[in-house]
Amino acid sequence: MKFHVLTLFPEMVEQGLHHSILGRAAEKGQLSFHMVNIREYTRDKHGKVDDYPYGGGAGMLMQAQPVYDAYLSVAAGSLEPQGEGSDMDGFVLPACPAGRRIRTIYVTPQGRTFTQEMARELAQEEELVFLCGHYEGIDERVLEEIVTDYVSLGDYVLTGGELPAMVMIDAVARLVPGVLHNGESAETESFHNHLLEYPQYSRPEIWHGRPVPEVLLSGNHKKIEAWRLEQSLERTRQRRPDLYARYQAQQEIILHLAKQKRKYIHLMELLARGMARTVCRQGKNILVNAENTCNYALYLENPDAAEPLPVQLKAERLPEQEQMYLAVCQESAKDLLLAQYGLKLRKTCYQACYTRKESLRVEYRDIRSLNGADLNYVAERYQECEKTYLQRRIQAGAMYGIYMGQGEERRLTGFIGIHENGSMGMLYVDKAYRRRGLAASLESWLVNWHLRRGEIPFCQISEENIPAMGLQKKLGLYLCGEPMWWLECYFSHLSQ
Ligand code: SAM
Repeated sequence: MKFHVLTLFPEMVEQGLHHSILGRAAEKGQLSFHMVNIREYTRDKHGKVDDYPYGGGAGMLMQAQPVYDAYLSVAAGSLEPQGEGSDMDGFVLPACPAGRRIRTIYVTPQGRTFTQEMARELAQEEELVFLCGHYEGIDERVLEEIVTDYVSLGDYVLTGGELPAMVMIDAVARLVPGVLHNGESAETESFHNHLLEYPQYSRPEIWHGRPVPEVLLSGNHKKIEAWRLEQSLERTRQRRPDLYARYQAQQEIILHLAKQKRKYIHLMELLARGMARTVCRQGKNILVNAENTCNYALYLENPDAAEPLPVQLKAERLPEQEQMYLAVCQESAKDLLLAQYGLKLRKTCYQACYTRKESLRVEYRDIRSLNGADLNYVAERYQECEKTYLQRRIQAGAMYGIYMGQGEERRLTGFIGIHENGSMGMLYVDKAYRRRGLAASLESWLVNWHLRRGEIPFCQISEENIPAMGLQKKLGLYLCGEPMWWLECYFSHLSQ
């Protein structure tokens, strides 16, 4: 991922970002930091970048021209700074090539407060521009032309935007797949699922006469997990009652949906795994979005009398043309959406979930996480999903391959993955290896992977995929008797 920082103090930001985990990721090419010194873009003979605000008032303001030209150097990728004393008349700005409108964040006390959720959303981008203000801020006109997001670090005023930009870049960069060594550590931290992290201890066992809690030395992982959850809950309740209230509201919905677990497993799991954002909630009606994806799921308590909930989607920050998928499990809700909004039916599925606790037997065990080098293999064989989607799933560490053959001949012969909506899928086995139980091994392995994390594994099978239905039954997953529908809609459908 590439970060461009527009600043008057590039050394300050540069130094702060090239250490420890981020420095290592930059060396490996997983991250890149590009400093743009706004001063180098001024066309003022004396190198000035600020001036007095019209109408009077304290302090100086950063002028529009140097900020705009510095931005263009990133957007156009070609504008060289003209430097001191440049001839203004001879200065021709290249037009921004189409598609180079990079998300540009102005760090300002006047923005939305930065959160972990925002960091997760920003980590999905390939490039970001951070604009750092100084003095009294920046001429409003250039902000109106280039800024896409106004983001604040908190309700206080700092002297410049460099520290906030560094804080935000740090929080975003560590969520880029591969930056943290242990891929799991970003998932079990504070704010995941609206909870703060539990207390942690390291050696020695006794320090200043204070022993480490006994349960952590027991080696009993179930007990340790239970203790950690209890500590997380208590700590969140005491220190962040606002977060705790959100956690409780979410638990209430999960318990309600659990009454019809097989039907609403997708919604329950998205919420329970902390993978979802509640877009809107009216009483027991709920619309959730699998975080940072185009996947939405809707539950209406009483679909016949439903308010047209998806109108709320209009408020979503979705690029025009972006396609969204809405999962609905109630026939009347589906009919209402098709009739009122002209959404298209994409497919009809049946959900299956594994609600038992025992792990499944895995016959072929050489199953490993796939990486970028496997993308072509996967994309050539699994054409139900776009290549870019498969690439994202591989990058997220959510695709696994099975290897067969002896010695030099050993090779990738099939795969399975976890979709952005949390369901298991994308199952494929090479023709020459079919009917030997590889598909069962792949799915059993993934079921066990979910169980170890305390999750309920589930999948969504197209109604015409009879072999896949058979596999679910064979492995002991429960198929829901009622269908679910995937509706397809575009931003333009909803913004009419
Ligand atoms: N006059 C501005 C106002 O009252 O909103 C404050 C300007 S501040 C002194 C200078 C710069 O520091 C801002 O342009 C912004 O880039 C940065 N800054 C200050 N406080 C910030 C905060 N809480 N979050 C993000 N950026 C901040």
